[in-house]
Amino acid sequence: MKFLLMEKTGEGTCTFIFFLIYSMADQDITCRDCGNSFSFSEGEQEFYATKELSPPQRCKDCRSSRKAERFSSREMHAAVCAKCGADCEVPFKPRPVEEGGKPVLCKECFMADRA
Ligand SMILES: [Zn+2]
Ligand SMILES: [Zn+2]
Repeated sequence: MKFLLMEKTGEGTCTFIFFLIYSMADQDITCRDCGNSFSFSEGEQEFYATKELSPPQRCKDCRSSRKAERFSSREMHAAVCAKCGADCEVPFKPRPVEEGGKPVLCKECFMADRA
């Protein structure tokens, strides 16, 4: 780890000082979930730094499985497509159109609508 001090003097009296934690090599991080170490590459570190994100704490496998878990744990509600009448599932509770709800479209009709 290196500490880099960047100093930028603006016009007039304003002086901005940025402290940037900068590391120049790949880092090994131990996954919080499975304990495997994975590399946090220099490119990724730069990407995270520009986005002001903290370094990942889990390996890619655990991150993607957590994402999948979150997605599948979403409660799905049965609905009927307003366009083609097909049965579909939506991740929110559909409200009747008369009550101000939006008509539900199945995936195909939704995509066709967007195109
Ligand atoms: Zn892991
Ligand atoms: Zn449809």
